[in-house]
Amino acid sequence: MKVIVAVCENDRCEMVIHKGDRVWNKGSELYCSGKCLFESFGHVKQTVLCEKQVVGGTR
Ligand SMILES: [Zn+2]
Repeated sequence: MKVIVAVCENDRCEMVIHKGDRVWNKGSELYCSGKCLFESFGHVKQTVLCEKQVVGGTR
């Protein structure tokens, strides 16, 4: 039986992480995959992109 140790910190994923699974970590945060970890870094970039769209947008 698998032991649940954590849940992926990515809000859009939240996959259960079991004991013995390969995980990616950023400080104390655990992610089920490199993709989820990358997305957590991408939040800042996306915010910047949104701001750029507002400034230089078509409206
Ligand atoms: Zn995940």
